[in-house]
Amino acid sequence: MTDTALMPIPGPIDPVPVARPGVSDGITPRADGRVDLIGLPRPRIAELFAEAGLDAKAAKLRAKQVYHWLYHRGVSDFAAMTDIAKTMRPWLAERFVIGRPEVVEAQHSTDGTRKWLLRTADGHDFEMVFIPDADRGTLCVSSQVGCTLNCRFCHTGTMRLVRNLTPGEIVGQVMLARDELGEWPQGNMARQMDVSEEEDAAEYSADGRLLTNIVMMGMGEPLYNFDNVRDALQLVMDGDGLALSKRRITLSTSGVVPMMERCGEEIGVNLAVSLHAVTKAVRDEIVPLNRKYGIEQLLQACADYPGASNARRITFEYVMLKGMNDSDEDARELVRLLRQYDLPAKVNLIPFNPWPGAPYECSTPERVRRFSDIVFEAGISAPVRTPRGRDIDAACGQLKTAAEKKTRAELDRLAEEKQAALQ
Ligand code: SF4
Repeated sequence: MTDTALMPIPGPIDPVPVARPGVSDGITPRADGRVDLIGLPRPRIAELFAEAGLDAKAAKLRAKQVYHWLYHRGVSDFAAMTDIAKTMRPWLAERFVIGRPEVVEAQHSTDGTRKWLLRTADGHDFEMVFIPDADRGTLCVSSQVGCTLNCRFCHTGTMRLVRNLTPGEIVGQVMLARDELGEWPQGNMARQMDVSEEEDAAEYSADGRLLTNIVMMGMGEPLYNFDNVRDALQLVMDGDGLALSKRRITLSTSGVVPMMERCGEEIGVNLAVSLHAVTKAVRDEIVPLNRKYGIEQLLQACADYPGASNARRITFEYVMLKGMNDSDEDARELVRLLRQYDLPAKVNLIPFNPWPGAPYECSTPERVRRFSDIVFEAGISAPVRTPRGRDIDAACGQLKTAAEKKTRAELDRLAEEKQAALQ
């Protein structure tokens, strides 16, 4: 039977900065003292070039060139920046680096889902997942290592928060995914070595590409790492940067109400809300943040979300838990609430993907279908999300836990095998 006792809420649940020595200014710190440029906007890169000795005009010009190579072309070596003087390139390499998260492990599901266990420069592991569909390819990006929120159906919620990811570590996931999928505009690095002006003006377009959409739905609560998530997504959305439209980016929150308006105003991406329950008692249990920001407050913040409309509906995520939140009454109450707040809504029904020791079971397929039918019949889209990557520990947080159980030697052996396969 499901344990319905209320959980205590460990850790801070307000949006507080997570202190970490060495992290300032959005810069991802490194042991060798060089500055990682990934995650920095163009004006900050210009400032750093000026601090390193270039005059203001040269710093501005070099920052413009380097920014384009970093974010638009995906170059990860200063030597490949062909419009920068050959003598200048070693000067840059001595002082700066172009970082990417380290890949600890990569898994490839039979259904095409790919999952990576990544490591920060200071040794913390987090996850990134790519889910290809017929008409889109979605990258699920992490915002924190661990999480403070302890949603009970979520495996990441069983891990303590280690720290916020920096802007570089967040945008670095998207860049790494483009590396791995071979999807920078005009092809791979080798072709970037000799770039014509016509090629250089190329825009990134979603047509025919694998990675078309981003969801901030990986490890962590993005609105508890607001500044870094905003700064990273601005690089992703910048037409001179990664150039992905804000309409193709969705930020998922478990309901950090005070930050939702700023999210709409300062980032402007689509919003998804982890609703998962329609009564206070059940939501208090499975999304403990509900005890701080209740369902009514949350739905009002959704109604006020800047930019939401019938063309840009808010997604309500609803994980189907057997006997917990999956009754006909729950479905009807969901419809009633969405109508009461006049929300431009779509509902995503997610069959629960259990992990060893999970406190819940997944609803039966018949129950999920019935729930979906009730919501659909009320005129609200409620598709059932097909479980993906079940053969590769794809539930959020599972790969990290599985890797922690492996010995260092096993991980080294896997890394060697991967390297050998690439040669
Ligand atoms: S669902 Fe999201 S916010 Fe909740 S515990 Fe998991 S990672 Fe944290």
